[in-house]
Amino acid sequence: MNPPLLPHWWNGGPQSGSGPRRPVISPLDGAPFGELAEASPADLDASVRSATEAFASWSRVPVKERVQPLYRFKQKVEAHIAELAAIVSRESGKTPDEAAAGIQRGLEVVEYACSLPALLGGGLLEVSSGVDCYTRRHPVGVVAGITPFNFPAMVPLWMFPMAIACGNTFILKPSDLVPAAPLRLAELLKESGLPDGVFNVVHGGRETAEAVLDHPGIHAAAFVGSTPVARSVFLRGSNAGKRVLALGGAKNHVVILPDADPALVARNLTASATGCAGQRCMAASVALGVGPMDGILEAVAAEMRKVRAGDSMGAIISARSRDRIHGYIDRAERDGATLLVDGRNPVVPGRERGFYVNPTLIDRLDPASESVRDEIFGPVLSVLRVGSLDEALAIENRSPYGNAASIFTSSGAAARHFEMNARAGMIGINIGVPVPRDPFGFGGWNDSKFGVGDITGPEAIGFWSRSRKVTVKWSASAARGWMS
Ligand code: NAD
Repeated sequence: MNPPLLPHWWNGGPQSGSGPRRPVISPLDGAPFGELAEASPADLDASVRSATEAFASWSRVPVKERVQPLYRFKQKVEAHIAELAAIVSRESGKTPDEAAAGIQRGLEVVEYACSLPALLGGGLLEVSSGVDCYTRRHPVGVVAGITPFNFPAMVPLWMFPMAIACGNTFILKPSDLVPAAPLRLAELLKESGLPDGVFNVVHGGRETAEAVLDHPGIHAAAFVGSTPVARSVFLRGSNAGKRVLALGGAKNHVVILPDADPALVARNLTASATGCAGQRCMAASVALGVGPMDGILEAVAAEMRKVRAGDSMGAIISARSRDRIHGYIDRAERDGATLLVDGRNPVVPGRERGFYVNPTLIDRLDPASESVRDEIFGPVLSVLRVGSLDEALAIENRSPYGNAASIFTSSGAAARHFEMNARAGMIGINIGVPVPRDPFGFGGWNDSKFGVGDITGPEAIGFWSRSRKVTVKWSASAARGWMS
């Protein structure tokens, strides 16, 4: 018997579409759990028609009314969080706790979107005698989100609540590896009273994403994924006349000064490097130890050995990804690095066909090595020993990425020097995963983001809406001077 179809969603309901089908595999056990319907060009057109028709009325609903379904949606997601977390866990390999935490983080964006009536208003000023100028924010139109595998619910939640609260209608193209959670979100949005066609889902991989970027009926696209794809999405979408914000990959550096609390470092660094099995853009990836490091590394290694894949840590998304991670560890060992913790090829009883790597700690690396340079996207922490904070900063500054960087220290002056001189958009001080919580926006710098603004928070309002400036004069007799 074929696994159940994971359909598209438009016109307020599931759509089987006319494109080809392929199985979707759970990383937990390597078994297929659903069949992906890939969007044909006709399917994408149908979803754009659905969103375009809905836009005509949704864009005219006052914002105070537009957020009402979102209030109800938040409550519904909370009521179904265990069920949603199970879906996310099955398709992405996360632990159920991690899956639930991601959904809760996504709900903070829903809360922020519900506050838009207080934030969307424009200003008014008498700019000349008897002449007033005011602004009004309008939606952009039919907009799209293209999302990665590692947060099947949270990253879509970064996008659509703000987009639809701003009056747009939305088409989501989720990662073809994790198509199920967005469908459950679509059902909950419908149950919350969101009008049909305001939220739509089309499935597929690169081809579908490119068709979304090229489609003349879609006016903006937000993207989250790897850096090479983010760059090409930004260029392709911009070339097609859309506004595009594309968040890319990361290589996050964590500096440890000699005055840092070793227990705090060990706990936070391990959680940061191994949470979501290292498959998150905020993961600690390179530890830069200033001065003697052996004591701290022993503490980190001890913490890492407590974390077990298939139990307290989740799976790697695919066999290909697992093999890629193994390749990095193999080559680091071959090139003379020391594996303080070697997480290759763990056996997870009862899940032998799943995709797993245990936490891995690599010391004595060459600063120019690929493990220090590349985004490995697995539970692998590379260690470099340096002589000073400025040497650590120089290494951090050389990275083309710029998502996050953290420092562990008890010196305010050192922390401030780091904050002012690191080249990353999100900085942590004694924090391993410096995710800014709403109302602060989320977004990196350099090759970790293409386009202007943050994906959440106040700058997201600018992305998902456009301002109209209105100049008004009602009394000709008030005219005084050249501008009135
Ligand atoms: P990916 O770039 O492979 O895929 C992301 C999305 O793009 C998917 O929907 C995919 O189907 C689509 N896609 C693939 N190739 C494409 C192409 N050539 N043109 C257009 N679309 C294409 O990323 P992934 O492996 O799913 O996710 C992991 C990556 O995402 C990591 O690099 C991670 O750092 C990054 N990420 C970044 C953030 C952030 O906030 N900066 C957050 C989460 C994940």
